[in-house]
This record gives sequence, C-alpha cells and structure tokens, in this order.
Amino acid sequence: MSTEKAELGRLQTLLAQVGAGLDEYLRFEHADAFVNRAAWQPRLAQPLPRTGEGIDAVTRELVETLIPNGQPISKPGFTGYIVTGPVTASVLASAAASVASPARYLPTAFNLVEELSLEWLAELLGLGAMKGVYSSGGSVANLVGLGAARQHAFEKIGRDPALHGVDRAVRIYASEECHHTIQRSAGVLGLGRASVALIACDEGKRMRVDALRRALESDLRDGILPVAIVANAGATNTGAIDPIAEIGEVARAHGIWYHVDGAYGLPGILDPRVRGLYRGIEQADSVITDPHKWLGAAVGIAATFVHERDILERAFTQEASDYLEGTLEQSDADEPRIEHSMDDFGIPYFNYGLELSSPCRGVVVWAMLREIGAEGMRERIVRHNDMARELAARCRAHERLELLLEPTLSVCCFRYRPAGVDDLDEFNRRLHRRLVRENQYLPSTTRVDGRLALRPCFLGARTGEGQVEGLVDAILRIGAGLETELSDGGQNADTQL
Ligand SMILES: *Cc1c(COP(=O)(O)O)cnc(C)c1O
Repeated sequence: MSTEKAELGRLQTLLAQVGAGLDEYLRFEHADAFVNRAAWQPRLAQPLPRTGEGIDAVTRELVETLIPNGQPISKPGFTGYIVTGPVTASVLASAAASVASPARYLPTAFNLVEELSLEWLAELLGLGAMKGVYSSGGSVANLVGLGAARQHAFEKIGRDPALHGVDRAVRIYASEECHHTIQRSAGVLGLGRASVALIACDEGKRMRVDALRRALESDLRDGILPVAIVANAGATNTGAIDPIAEIGEVARAHGIWYHVDGAYGLPGILDPRVRGLYRGIEQADSVITDPHKWLGAAVGIAATFVHERDILERAFTQEASDYLEGTLEQSDADEPRIEHSMDDFGIPYFNYGLELSSPCRGVVVWAMLREIGAEGMRERIVRHNDMARELAARCRAHERLELLLEPTLSVCCFRYRPAGVDDLDEFNRRLHRRLVRENQYLPSTTRVDGRLALRPCFLGARTGEGQVEGLVDAILRIGAGLETELSDGGQNADTQL
C-alpha cells in the first residue's frame, strides 16, 4: 500500500496499541535489552523489505519487539548521566505536534505556543524578559549562544565573523568542569577547540574568579581577543554552580559576552535553598537550559536565551531562498494582510539558530507546565535535591561510605570504602558493575579529584520514595559481598583487584 489510506481513521486504534505497549514497558518488569538480545536481534536485523508488510505488522513489531527492548533510562532507579524518560505530557504533546504541526513555522496555534512556552520558561527560571529559541539539545544550544558571542566580539572590532570568518587568536574562558560541548562549539565556530581556556576550580568544583582574572589579563596583554566567559549553572559531573554574579562582573567590566550553561542545573533555581547561587543570571548575555533534562521532556529539546534575538539573526543568517522567503517578498505589497497561515512564517525561529526544519518543541514545554504548573515543577526539583542530600547524610552516617563532594543540586558523588583495600577505584568500579547488572539501581560513575565516584543524578519524574534507601542498601550489600570475597582470598577471578 503506497498511500496512507491504510491508516486513515485508524490512528486512534494504532496509537492505543502502541500506548498499551508503552504502559506495559513502564511497569519495568522486562529484562535488560542487552541481556535479552538473542530474542530480538535476529528478528530485527533483516534486509530491506522488497514489499511492505502493512501498518498492523509494523505496529505489532513496535509493541512486541522494540518497546520491551528499549533503554532503562525511564526506570525510577536510573540515575546515570543526565538523561531522563519523558513525562506523559511530553509524549502526548510530541505525538500531537508530529501530526498536526510537523514544523514550527507559520502562525498557527503551535507557533504561538512555541513563543509562549519560551516566555514561561524565562519567567520560571529567573531570566526575566530574555527571548529564546529552541534547539535539539545542550550541544546545539551552547553553539547558538557562543555563535552570538563570536558575533558580539568581532562586531566590536568592525568585522562580521558570520560573513568573513575569524582572522585572529581568540579566547573563550570556561571552568575545567565545563561541558565538552563548549570546546566542540569553539571548533565548529572556527575559533578552534584550543581557544577554550580551562580555568581552575576551587574545592567545590566552582570556577576560581581570581584565576579567571589572571588568565584574562595575561591574554589581553598578548592581544588575544576574548570572545566569551562561560559559567556553569550546574556542572554535569557534580552539579556545582560557578559564582555567577562575580564572573558576570568580570565579563561586564571588560565588555565580554557572558554565557551561562544551565543545560542541567538551571531549574535548580526553583529550590529556595539554592536560589541565591543563581543571583545575577538575568544579566548574562546568553543562558541555556535543556527541558529534556530536569524538566522531564523527551530528548530533543533545549533552549538558548538572549536579550535581543537580532544578534542570533546576524550570527546565523542564511541567504534568503526563492522557495521560502522569496515567495513572501513577491506577495502583493498593497495587501499585506494575513488571511491564511501561509501568508506569513510566524516567528522566524529558523533565523535564530542552525535548524530550518525543526519539530515544534515549545508545545512539549507548554504541556508539561500546563499539567503541573510552576509549583509542581518546584516540588519535583526540591524532591530531587532532597534525595541527593539524603544520600549525602547516609554517607556521613555510615563508615563504609565516603561522600566525595557536598551536593549542590541533585547529583551526589560518593564511594564505598572497604577495609584493607588499596585500590578504591578498582573496587568501586567492580561494585558499580555488579550494581548495574542487577538492573534496578543504575547510577553512572565519574571522577572527583581523580577518585572514581559513584554518581547518581536524581532527575527522573518517576524517581522518589524509597529510591535512595534502596540504592544505599544495594551498594552496602554488594560492597560487603565483594569485601568477603576478597578476604576469602579473591578466588573468584571477577573479584581480583
Ligand atoms: C547535558 C549537558 C550539555 C549537553 O547537552 P545535550 O542535550 O546532551 O546536547 C551541555 N552542558 C551541560 C552542563 C550539560 O549537562
């Protein structure tokens, strides 16, 4: 069947079948997909079908083979990296938009909500009247913010870097805990990854402002053009928040673009206990956040905020093309009224970043905020920060657990301290591997001051009650087991340290 006729009038039934499969998935009773791969790999790894099998067969395969063998990310016990399963409002909104508004241009209900949701986010997250644009994730959102920074720095010396490129040595200042997408952005923007100066942090993993000043002054003496200073509002490794107001003062004193990376941590501003750490953020020139992290959206949604979007337009200009703007320019100038949604593009987000075609992302943010409101979001953020604090308290209370860094947000870095074992990194690596194989509590690891740390990041809308206790109990049980095996002579090859 080469048309969509098979589907006409059946979407409701088909979506209900997929929905039932997803409800089943959300019970989290299936085994890990990788463990189970013999059951699905041969079924899926098929040659290109010569003829179609029809929509019912596809739906069945989705429900029976793909969904049960998806990722563990949505599980309540998943606390690895900084990624989460989407909340229901996000799933519904994306499904609705994918059919009813496949792109974000044209002045439709979805285009309105794209802008409205950006305004809501700015208000929710303490950014005042800053204007935003969505993109696919923090990687692109940082690139968009730093593209504006590049534009700002070069326009000040009379050059349009988007048109002519860059012609001199530049510097971007970020802490040694910055996300590596800062370097990648510098690479993509033609500034060079090596142009990112990594500024030392204090013992709390916050940028040292004295070190920033020294690096900046030395570069200025050498004639290097500063492009941006980047602060973390929630470092990926530890959740640390750089001294935002102080760094902002340095940036302002030198007229340097100030970019704040709040991909993960910006929503932390909703927690009154840490709100003060974000003071001055509304004065940054660009700020990013990822609704697909702490706010619970499905992956594929970040936002970059600036004070005026003109600079984005200059940084990401695309030449007008006949098949888009060209058609509107030729429209009858005597009659500029908009009578159909195709008479106008609506807000031209495609001029503010990298993407022309792009899904409607605002509708997801709008739906999540409509569902639980600012207050519901605040409660969730506070709950996650509570979980990190509860875990830290348990580490302090137990002789076998060592807290490696006091949590600022919802990340807690700690490790197991066995008696009489020298290689703590190797011990904790083994412990982590065993924990993950049990498939219930799934943190990831990182390094804090060179030491291997277990690093749960409490982020999921489904995580809460009993999770910290369960995680700690599992770690203590596995750690004690490993200790016993070691003192029994390490017969088991897996226990050899
Ligand atoms: C996750 C993260 C990024 C990258 O975001 P993606 O959405 O994964 O592209 C950038 N900066 C920080 C601080 C992050 O935590």
